[in-house]
Amino acid sequence: MLKRGDVIKLVRVVAETHEIEIGCDECFERLDSFAETEISGVNASVAMPLVGDHLDKCADCRSKFEALLRVLRGT
Ligand SMILES: [Zn+2]
Repeated sequence: MLKRGDVIKLVRVVAETHEIEIGCDECFERLDSFAETEISGVNASVAMPLVGDHLDKCADCRSKFEALLRVLRGT
């Protein structure tokens, strides 16, 4: 019999590994709209938390994102 705390822990592990995490490919696919959202003044990490979360963890995608932002801002 699982205790409540164990279930929560288990759900968290499953969620983190499968449901609320995206990979670099998915991140890259959404990077355009993520950057456009950010440019439009909306907090993109709130609008697209999966991408924001990935960018926090992945230096590779973050640098692509920053490059994209620079292009979109024309600087
Ligand atoms: Zn990545």
